[in-house]
Amino acid sequence: MGKLVYILSFGHSGSTLLDLTLGTHPQMLSTGELMFLPFNLQRSLTAEYPISDGSRCSCHLKYLDCPVWSETIERIVLKTGDISIRDNPLRGFDMSFLRDQDFFASGKLADRIRKWLILAVPEVSTRCIQNSFSLKNNWDVIDTLAECSGKKYIVDSSKDVFRLFHFLRYRPQDIKVVVNIRSPFGVVNSYRKQGRSAESAVKQWLRYYRSAVRLCRQFDIDPFLVNYGSLCEDPIAVRRAVLQYLNVADDGMDELVINRGGHHMALGNGMRFQDEIRIRADDAWKTVLPPADKKITVNYLKKRIDTLSSLISTKQKNALLSQ
Ligand SMILES: [Zn+2]
Repeated sequence: MGKLVYILSFGHSGSTLLDLTLGTHPQMLSTGELMFLPFNLQRSLTAEYPISDGSRCSCHLKYLDCPVWSETIERIVLKTGDISIRDNPLRGFDMSFLRDQDFFASGKLADRIRKWLILAVPEVSTRCIQNSFSLKNNWDVIDTLAECSGKKYIVDSSKDVFRLFHFLRYRPQDIKVVVNIRSPFGVVNSYRKQGRSAESAVKQWLRYYRSAVRLCRQFDIDPFLVNYGSLCEDPIAVRRAVLQYLNVADDGMDELVINRGGHHMALGNGMRFQDEIRIRADDAWKTVLPPADKKITVNYLKKRIDTLSSLISTKQKNALLSQ
């Protein structure tokens, strides 16, 4: 059976880089945002898409031509006898826990209410898990990937807190949680480029990590915290520290080399298609983030960031706010 390394991270915060970094270890397999696998399998069946469209595996092959995914899918079809996994994955092979993880239906109100109910009312969540084919499908993929690749740890950077909640209710002993965090100013700047306000970005940033804290507390998990800035500065040191947390023997890698042919991500940042990944911290916000947006961010967090104190040390908190 496979072990799951689940990355919790707000968007635009370097989770793909962290996933790829961990995937360089011989015992770990990067899978990117695994919950989108059925969606991309479907796309690879229906038409040709350019690589930039993201519908191919990060090894540049179509999913069903990729040696890792094709073998995994075939083995699951054999185990379950369900050919829809291969022939009509979007209909027959759900790996998301609610429809709002479908590309086409983000944030439907009814799903948001269901999600809230499931998280807030234990009886609802128990029933939901008992009836969940998605959960079985996810573990089938994780266990089969481990079998096919010979790797023990499957890294999933789907980031979704709700998804982790489901995993934890079912096989908590097989899950390790790594929380990746980037300076909120960097996040605000990324959102600003998409035309979104500083206030909404910082609100969402805080809300995300608060739910991560709540979930870890609920399941008595002490997650490992990765700072995006440290990851860019010294990826080998961060990699070593995560390995130690996972209790995985260090393979002695002293220079990070991410080989494109060596990973097979379902989805993630476009960097997964690059032949050569150069790690450079995106700290453009230091020069381009307008002072007014910086002020909004600081003022919002000053009063509220203590709610993350079980996740972020005082030193880290001060570092995040003083930049
Ligand atoms: Zn591949």
